Amino acid sequence: MAVPRIRRERKTVAAMIQLFCRKKHGSRGALCAGCQAIHDYAMGKLERCPFQERKPTCAKCRIHCYKEPQRSQIREIMRFAGPRMLLRHPLLAIGHLRDGIRPAP
Ligand SMILES: [Zn+2]
Repeated sequence: MAVPRIRRERKTVAAMIQLFCRKKHGSRGALCAGCQAIHDYAMGKLERCPFQERKPTCAKCRIHCYKEPQRSQIREIMRFAGPRMLLRHPLLAIGHLRDGIRPAP
């Protein structure tokens, strides 16, 4: 069972990938195969994140745990979905901004 910080992070990442896939790949409901793969990769990384409850935002983290090509893929997704999150998922977006203010471990 994941700690609350990781559970919320999972929701945030999933919402961002969904948004990206719907707009860029025209998916409805389910993700396309490529986005499903990056989603599963991201979920696996969160499960193994060494910081858990103290997890900083990935942008501020000193461990860059994503390898290429997933690293570039997730960056593209974040760049696209980030600004749109405030409108679509304001609570998740605000939570993420708050995480960004806290000092990284
Ligand atoms: Zn997609």
